[in-house]
Amino acid sequence: MKLSFHPHTLELKHVFTVAEMSRSTTPIMLTEIEHEGIVGYGEASMPPYLGESHKTAAEFLSKVDLSKYENPFELETILTDIDTIAPGNCAAKASVDIALHDLVGKLLNKPWYDILGFDKNKTPHISFTIGIDTPEVVRRKVKEGEEYKIIKVKLGKENDKEMIETIRSVTDRPLTADANQGWKDRNYAVEMAHYLKEKDVLYLEQPMPKEDVEGNAYVTEHSPIPTIADEAVQRLADLKNAHGVYSGINIKLMKSTGMREAHKMLLLARALGMKVMIGCMTETSCAISAASQLSPMVDWADLDGNLLIKNDIFSGTKIVDGRLKLSNKPGIGVTKKQRTL
Ligand code: MG
Repeated sequence: MKLSFHPHTLELKHVFTVAEMSRSTTPIMLTEIEHEGIVGYGEASMPPYLGESHKTAAEFLSKVDLSKYENPFELETILTDIDTIAPGNCAAKASVDIALHDLVGKLLNKPWYDILGFDKNKTPHISFTIGIDTPEVVRRKVKEGEEYKIIKVKLGKENDKEMIETIRSVTDRPLTADANQGWKDRNYAVEMAHYLKEKDVLYLEQPMPKEDVEGNAYVTEHSPIPTIADEAVQRLADLKNAHGVYSGINIKLMKSTGMREAHKMLLLARALGMKVMIGCMTETSCAISAASQLSPMVDWADLDGNLLIKNDIFSGTKIVDGRLKLSNKPGIGVTKKQRTL
């Protein structure tokens, strides 16, 4: 097997603001793993606040030697070896994991939802994300996302209620909320959770800073809607700390180092009786389609990263009537739109 990688930059349709920052581009690394003429595609998305970059990913990926493995099906061995090359580098690791899964699926001529035994018709509706913005922009974005049945609203600044009221002035679709650790006062967070319940919000993501374990546990105990750990849970081992503190977890391939560990997280969360959502960064349809393979097993999917960019170079899982529609294509179910690299 041979790994190659190419840096690329995604351009967002709109400047995106969440509690901690704003940005209009996202660096990604595209990977390919070739084996006996078959190519698997992967991707690392690296929003700057997570600490990875084109430079760190190139450094990490240049240390990955797949030529020593003869059997691509030894996913557990190969991916465990790669994980031990260096700590961190979760997105770079995910880019190898995704490409390897795509390759293996193609070699089996099966999509991953089939290999994992999931029903492709059980995919959830996806939520369409609206960043923190002025009422005028928020109203325009709600209109833009008209075909989606659920709207995810970013909170955590001083205009929380204004954001909700603005959206409620133009639509009665269900909402989900993500405070991105923006609330520092547990009583305010609980008060907001009750307000959000009244406004038909389905769940609340990362209400308080991840370090404030007691605060988040207090919010979960007093919240009428489920709380979901996002920033507080990166990988499988983090689940033991999230259990009892949050109602559920948000799994993202770029945090979990890819599909294999994401699947393990899904199973463990279920065994612990926790809710599961699957989310994303700003990504092309490559990583989104990989994540969507797991979506028949989750409660909620927030896989809209590819819809928010101008220059997607893959086509894969589509949204039909607001719901993920998995393709019959093998592997992660994508085709490359253009040979730009
Ligand atoms: Mg989040």
